[in-house]
Amino acid sequence: MISGSLRGQVGKLRGLAASLRVNGDTGEQKLLLAIIDTLDELAGVMDDRLNADSGQTYTLNSQCPNCGKEISLSVSNLRGDEPVICDSCHEIIGVISERL
Ligand SMILES: [Zn+2]
Repeated sequence: MISGSLRGQVGKLRGLAASLRVNGDTGEQKLLLAIIDTLDELAGVMDDRLNADSGQTYTLNSQCPNCGKEISLSVSNLRGDEPVICDSCHEIIGVISERL
């Protein structure tokens, strides 16, 4: 489990750099700031990806025990305890529990 966003971590680095008066006056400081900028960009991409994954819907293929029809279900893995309803006979055939 990642505590806090990656962006937040990079923000702390940036704050640290500022408190050390790293402002790009020298070549080394420019390099340091460029590294932090790059990390910030990467962290943004990673955070977006993590957010996208946690809101992901996935498809379940199953067979209805009631009418025997092959069904595919789009399930959001964030919402647990969602009743699964067969789109053929409209019977509730199960409950999706959170899988994470
Ligand atoms: Zn059915």
